[in-house]
This record gives sequence, structure tokens and C-alpha cells, in this order.
Amino acid sequence: MEDMSETLRDQLAENLRAVETRISAACARAGRERESVTLVAVTKTVGSEVARLLPGLGVVDLGENRPQELWKKAAAIPGVRWHMIGHLQRNKVERTVPLVHLVHSVDSVRLLEALETQERPVDVLLEVNCSGEARKGGFAPEALLEVVGPLERLKWVRVRGLMTMAAYEEEAERCRPTFVLLRTLRDELRQRLGERHPLEELSMGMSNDFEVAIEEGATMIRLGTILFEGRE
Ligand SMILES: *Cc1c(COP(=O)(O)O)cnc(C)c1O
Repeated sequence: MEDMSETLRDQLAENLRAVETRISAACARAGRERESVTLVAVTKTVGSEVARLLPGLGVVDLGENRPQELWKKAAAIPGVRWHMIGHLQRNKVERTVPLVHLVHSVDSVRLLEALETQERPVDVLLEVNCSGEARKGGFAPEALLEVVGPLERLKWVRVRGLMTMAAYEEEAERCRPTFVLLRTLRDELRQRLGERHPLEELSMGMSNDFEVAIEEGATMIRLGTILFEGRE
């Protein structure tokens, strides 16, 4: 048992080192500091016994795309910052909000309003469907400016930025327009909103496209597959 978790830890450490090298290289190409990009480890494909090795390896930002799974892992793994990165149903808001550092996936004004009713500070990102795929959630790019009014009425919820998922591409370079679009939308929205919603974050980039996302200004990358591959 002990041996197995040793091997697992070594494999994870090795994957992390390889990813770190690539993150640093992408930052260097873009003239950015490594510290300007937060690695969020997406643990949805692994159990708590694997996810709990991450803080020891220096990864303290963990993401889950299903509320129930986040609740479960949050109870099992203390000392990390939890990121809710998938669709959050309104009836799960009350239980999720106290556990999370940031909700990346706010996809409707109704969800914003449900978060507001918790009457406690909540940091969120607005998810934007930049790729136009019907099965993906998020605000349509052209609908984003319509949220300016509702955002100005919020007292508790604070919008820290935008999030998107690019379409899967064999060639990551093809995701670049998606990331450019998200950054452009962020800049436009920021001009219309006051200081209460700082909009400094761009959560974009996954295992297959994170380097391009960093080159285009990602401040948070969400990596799953690439961290956990190669496990027995
Ligand atoms: C699963 C998931 C990721 C991680 O994807 P990988 O390709 O495994 O790195 C990132 N963001 C969201 C919203 C996800 O659901």
C-alpha cells in the first residue's frame, strides 16, 4: 500500500515538473512572470486518495466540475483552495459557496442572483461560450454586455474575470482566436464596470492548449489529464 502511493507520488511529481517547465517556457515567450499564472489542478478523474497528494507537491488550487464531488473532496482534503469549474445548479449554491475560493462557471444572471442571496462575499468568473458549440455552457459573447446592469446591482458577489473552454483541437494553435476573444471581451466589459468588479482574471487553457492560453494572457489554467496520465 505504502509502495503504491510512493510510486503514484513520484509519477505525479514527474508530471508536475514537466508541466512546470512548459508553463515557465510559455510565460517566458510572452514576457510574463511565472507567478502571474495559477495552476488549478482539475481532480475530477481521480479520487481523494490521489488528489490529496497535490498540496504536498506544491499545488494548492484544486478544481472540480461537479458540486457533489467537490463537497466530498473538500471534506477529505483540507488546506487547499477549491475552484468550482462546472455548472452549478442553483439548489447547490448554499452548500457550495462556503467551500469555494472561486466559482469559474457562472453562466446566467439567475445564478448570479442565487449567489447574491447567500449574503456573503463570493468571488466568481463569468463563463463565456467563445467557441459557439451548442453543448457548451456560458454566456454568448454578444450577451455579455447585457449583464452590466445586473452586475452593478450586486453587493456580495464580485466578478473577478472571465472563463472559457476552447473547442478541442489537435493543433492547439487553432484555439488562439478563442483566447484572444475572451481577453477582448474582458477588456470591453472592464471599461463598463466600476472597481467593485476588478476583472483581472482570465481562466483559460486546459491540457491540450494551455501554452497558447498563457501566451494570450491566461492568469489561471485548468489542467487535469496532463497531470494524472501515466498512472497504473
Ligand atoms: C475537465 C476540465 C478541465 C481539465 O481538462 P483537461 O483537458 O483534462 O486538462 C478544465 N476545465 C473544465 C471546465 C473541465 O471540466
